[in-house]
Amino acid sequence: MKFGGTSVAHASNINKVIDIVLESQAKKDDIFIVVSALSGITDDLIKLANFASKRDLAYKIIFKNICEKHDQIVEELIDSKKNKNILKEIDKKYKELEEIIKNIFSTQEIPLSSLDVVMSFGEQLSSYIISEIIKSRGVLCEFVDSRNIIKTDDNFGNANVDIETSYKLISECLKNKHNIVIMGGFIASTKNGTTTTLGRGGSDYTASLVGAALDASAIEIWTDVDGIMTADPRKIKNTFLIRDISYEKAEEMAYNGAKVIHPKAIKPAVFKNIPIYIKNTFNPTSTGTLISNKNEKIK
Ligand code: ADP
Ligand code: ASP
Ligand code: MG
Repeated sequence: MKFGGTSVAHASNINKVIDIVLESQAKKDDIFIVVSALSGITDDLIKLANFASKRDLAYKIIFKNICEKHDQIVEELIDSKKNKNILKEIDKKYKELEEIIKNIFSTQEIPLSSLDVVMSFGEQLSSYIISEIIKSRGVLCEFVDSRNIIKTDDNFGNANVDIETSYKLISECLKNKHNIVIMGGFIASTKNGTTTTLGRGGSDYTASLVGAALDASAIEIWTDVDGIMTADPRKIKNTFLIRDISYEKAEEMAYNGAKVIHPKAIKPAVFKNIPIYIKNTFNPTSTGTLISNKNEKIK
């Protein structure tokens, strides 16, 4: 199950996500969760690096806002008696990020490798925080750092996944875990451990890789629309939901800009013939879209 940025944007949305996860857990076997950064945070992190590289002190405000947004979620969703260590843990992450930003400020340069590290903090923080929120409700849940199990080359910003190595690592790490597992989408690392990212919107790809590596029965992409529509519903009026679509057509739509699913997320599912469901976190009972090897019912 993958939850996108809007699905984890703030405390009340995260509560919706947890309801969906727990309901699903009650019905199914093992669940693996991939989360994006909180809505807007990846853009903010890029802005942060850009402002620092121009020595624009406004970077300090962006940095403070990023930290406050994450702290606020922890404070709202985890009892103050239990949240101290978690706030301390994320404070360590902020300090790490601050060091990198200070370096960008002093060199006035953003190497692509540094930008990947900066962007990775969105998913590093969201996945850790949500795992702690679930744990705080007495549900067994484990946090996994995706960078240890998804391996790529060093094409920073749009790294190519070493499928064979990653599937082996994913399966070794996750196969025997029966509690809920949470990991960040989008982030990975080279074989030397340098942080990389999979391209904007790449959390869908992470979910698909994990699903395929584990021979999952389904890959669910939970987002903020009812499924794949005939066009972007935010731009075009009178669109309608496509309930069934083939891998091929879905991939074609994704490559042509339907950002509801990342184009790279289709292939891993095709090779293992795993159905992909697109579902709406804010309307969970709606049927959604099924992407599979069947022919579309709606032409
Ligand atoms: P997430 O953060 O959950 O990954 P995205 O913003 O990446 O969500 O993708 C969902 C968005 O994709 C929708 O809000 C919608 O505006 C856009 N979109 C573009 N084309 C389509 C389409 N054909 N069908 C549905 N949504 C689409
Ligand atoms: N957070 C990343 C982005 O905004 C990845 C994702 O959301 O899928 O591009
Ligand atoms: Mg997306």
